[in-house]
Amino acid sequence: MRRKLAAGNWKMNGTAGALSELVELAKHVKPGDAETLICPPAPLLYLACEKLRGTAIAIGAQDCHIEASGAYTGDISAPMVADTGATYVILGHSERRDAHDETNADIAAKTRAAWGAGLTAIICIGESGADREEDKTLDVIAAQLAGSVPENASGQNSVIAYEPIWAIGTGKTPTLDQIVEVHDFIRARLNDRFGQETGDTIRLLYGGSVKSENAAEIFTAENVDGALVGGASLKAADFAPIIKALSRA
Ligand code: PEP
Repeated sequence: MRRKLAAGNWKMNGTAGALSELVELAKHVKPGDAETLICPPAPLLYLACEKLRGTAIAIGAQDCHIEASGAYTGDISAPMVADTGATYVILGHSERRDAHDETNADIAAKTRAAWGAGLTAIICIGESGADREEDKTLDVIAAQLAGSVPENASGQNSVIAYEPIWAIGTGKTPTLDQIVEVHDFIRARLNDRFGQETGDTIRLLYGGSVKSENAAEIFTAENVDGALVGGASLKAADFAPIIKALSRA
């Protein structure tokens, strides 16, 4: 049985005052609801963990370096993330693959670093609009899964987020059939590679313009175990209904 996961990615949004939204969100999340995670910008990680101590909301980072320490100005290592009290880290988000030229090999190395620090990696994959138009979606997904997800992945240490790039922040979403096709494909690939006993434990999140209006339909898919949510995770009033829809699914 995979526990549902509602993960919020705040991207580069929010200063300390925004943490009041987390405190508000915590009032809505009850025991038995879907697991809830917020990934704020790195400077807020420690404070977010302090403010949410004793609540049901987990905290994660949005990236980590492959090394534990060293001369990497501006970077943050996985042990540093773990030291804040955070338990997850998003890796390979398309905005990082694109703006920071992150390759599948980089993401696999970051994932191993995250595991080494005891963090659960949320590994993001997804096709561009051009890939989909050219009918290359499943080939792209297969290559990203093979290259970004290291050996020894399991439900304990990894979550996969399917985020079609053309759906992120655009208000466009794939049809339910398109989401089902990709999620079923990812599940089959994980089962082939890691064996069904392990593959079936790895949670698969859908990400890309999830809102309270479309969440319930997306969560009907058997292999959608939750969502990675950008814009609609910034305000408790927007994210709470998505968590509730997932908890009911
Ligand atoms: C994201 O950034 O991972 C994302 C899915 O963003 P949005 O929900 O805003 O499309």
